[in-house]
Amino acid sequence: MALPLLVGQGGVENKERPDPIRRCFQAAYPAAADSLTPIKTENNPGLVIDDGLIKSRSQLFDRPDLQDTLHWPYPVKRNIEPPPEGADPGRIRHLGFLKLLYGADRTVVREQLVDVQWLPGLSKRVIQFNGRHGAAAALQSVSNELAKLPRRFHTYILKTNGTFNWRYIKGTKRLSAHAFAIAIDLDIRHTDYWRWARDTQGRFKFRNRIPIEIVEIFEKYGFVWGGRWWHFDTMHFEYRPEFFTPECVVQP
Ligand SMILES: [Zn+2]
Repeated sequence: MALPLLVGQGGVENKERPDPIRRCFQAAYPAAADSLTPIKTENNPGLVIDDGLIKSRSQLFDRPDLQDTLHWPYPVKRNIEPPPEGADPGRIRHLGFLKLLYGADRTVVREQLVDVQWLPGLSKRVIQFNGRHGAAAALQSVSNELAKLPRRFHTYILKTNGTFNWRYIKGTKRLSAHAFAIAIDLDIRHTDYWRWARDTQGRFKFRNRIPIEIVEIFEKYGFVWGGRWWHFDTMHFEYRPEFFTPECVVQP
């Protein structure tokens, strides 16, 4: 079965038609639509949707345009399988866009934090998430549904390993999605991470213990899962509605 393709999935054709990308992001983040207009003014320098450059893998991560962040389509699947070699859908982030959406520095992001009741009825915990662009509301919806899962799932979700943390990704100079309070890590006792899991040749050996039932609830509300990445990080869920917005997905 062919999977839906994202309009941004590389290719010459898309390089010449940036407007579908703009429409995709405007639909995914309607409150930021004005920032995505092609008109540049003093107050709105405009975001580069497509810089027209052909990039290496490391360049895609280090200086993406907005279109590059959609480089790999996100595979919505009903099962969990080792991610294809090289594919990290949702792991490329445009920091300028994230700063514009969620706050340009630690102080501003902190001001956007709102409470999310974690697993209402099961827990009294309150965690904090970015209140802008539907991120905290989406996490609250996830939380409400996770709380209804049968008891055997509780071990994965009762504890969490953090949301907001103004920090850089280990081994890089790139800010983490946690810096913007749009990512949550589940209980580290059940997680698997590519840096910890290599075979004798040094290749990443995919392993996962997070049940698909949990993954599906997050994906339903616009979160990508680190378990779908070649550089897998199975406790990590990140609010990226553009990967699930109909305007961003075209049928092949
Ligand atoms: Zn994380």
